[in-house]
Amino acid sequence: MAEKYDVIVVGAGPAGLTAAIYASRARLKTLVLDESVPGGQVKTTHKVSNYPGFPEDVKGTDLAKAFSAQAERFGAKVRRAVEITKHDLSGPVKRFELDEEEEVEAPAVIVATGAKPRDLGVAGESRFKGRGISYCATCDGAYFEGKDIHVVGGGNSAVEESLFLTQFARSVTIIHQFDHFQAEAAIAEEALHHPKIKVIWDSEPREFLGEKGLDKLKIENVKTKEVTELATDGVFVFIGYVPRADLVKGLLPLNPWGYVETQEDMSTQVPGLYVAGDLRQKKFRQITTAVADGTIAALAAQKYVKDHKPVAAR
Ligand SMILES: Cc1cc2nc3c(=O)[nH]c(=O)nc-3n(C[C@H](O)[C@H](O)[C@H](O)COP(=O)(O)OP(=O)(O)OC[C@H]3O[C@@H](n4cnc5c(N)ncnc54)[C@H](O)[C@@H]3O)c2cc1C
Repeated sequence: MAEKYDVIVVGAGPAGLTAAIYASRARLKTLVLDESVPGGQVKTTHKVSNYPGFPEDVKGTDLAKAFSAQAERFGAKVRRAVEITKHDLSGPVKRFELDEEEEVEAPAVIVATGAKPRDLGVAGESRFKGRGISYCATCDGAYFEGKDIHVVGGGNSAVEESLFLTQFARSVTIIHQFDHFQAEAAIAEEALHHPKIKVIWDSEPREFLGEKGLDKLKIENVKTKEVTELATDGVFVFIGYVPRADLVKGLLPLNPWGYVETQEDMSTQVPGLYVAGDLRQKKFRQITTAVADGTIAALAAQKYVKDHKPVAAR
């Protein structure tokens, strides 16, 4: 027998947890499923400076914990490290099989599965993942105390995380494919003036090399085509994100980049199925925009549940 909920939220990032706060406050029986610990990308962010309500910077991990605690305070059940082994989101009752052993169902589902770091797709990357190549400075930065490391990328994440990594590393060399950063001017300036940070412009990684662990990185200057081998103790890759649309692939149309188009109220072409946060096609992907999406999705789902189903037994 499947356990019945009013709303099931997939993804415990800012969008999913905000949806859970609103849904559970509206007395909907709410379940949040996450394959990891709650917080989404926020928990991998060392500090957040632009989330309103925090005049001082807030640690990403602290903000993530606060989002989750608030959802649980209102009664949402937040399930961590759970694997969705089967799902059917097409009908009026949406079902999930969890860890191949239990079933849950609800008339309304909010998919807020966000995005994951993009791979470079160059030779040696999969071999050295977690053995010299990392995609999360907050998670792995401390392993590089006193080391000479490289960062690939030039957007906000790459530059912010390079600054963060200077706390540990002896030197941080940023490799960027263009001749200027895409990051916001203030942090770009900070990085350019930082004594531990050096930048190699117009260059892209071509191969990761090493015997046991990673110890060399081959880069190519995209203008001169010159190839150089750099000694490295570790490489952090921040070149953008890939939407995590697996649950809705084949059910909802995706745009050419794999994002899901929704209506303004986060609804999709499947009644009762909502998509919120970074997974949606939209221009700006931030915590505030994810939180806004989660709010709207929960309010829309609340109305849908009320109109389509008596409130489930608690
Ligand atoms: C390094 C970094 C720094 C950032 N800094 C800032 C900042 O300073 N300010 C700001 O506003 N924004 C920042 N962002 C962006 C911000 O974190 C994201 O826009 C926001 O987290 C998106 O929220 P979300 O809930 O849509 O998705 P996510 O945060 O991606 O959360 C999605 C959740 O879904 C889970 N999930 C995915 N697939 C499944 C599945 N199949 N089953 C179960 N669970 C699943 C994941 O485990 C994850 O917990 C930063 C992002 C990064 C990576």
